Amino acid sequence: MASNIRIEKVCIFCEQPFIAKTTVTKYCSHNCSRKYYKKQKRDEKIRKATAPRKTMTDAEEQTVNSFEIITKRDFLSIKEAATLIGVSESTFYRLMKNKTIKTHKLGGRTIIKRSDIDNLFT
Ligand SMILES: [Zn+2]
Repeated sequence: MASNIRIEKVCIFCEQPFIAKTTVTKYCSHNCSRKYYKKQKRDEKIRKATAPRKTMTDAEEQTVNSFEIITKRDFLSIKEAATLIGVSESTFYRLMKNKTIKTHKLGGRTIIKRSDIDNLFT
């Protein structure tokens, strides 16, 4: 590619005509290049937020991952136990209160034995 090449192009960001020095130049200036890149990033974010979900979101994926960890553990926190049986923490507190679920105190923490959870459903 010759260095003295002059191509009339239109900046894809500001849509102003400019003279490009190479055939691959898309922007009239570095500023537009940077702004366009930022805009792309922003558009991508919006697209992700509004597009119909086909795959799991990061949060959902994390839930599944932590679910797998929880099912392998014998002692659970309230949050984990609630996740395990698929109820909210406030529902779980209610289950604790009416003694549907047995809890254990350990060093100021409330611990739920997974076997107790499992036994709920047997
Ligand atoms: Zn421009």
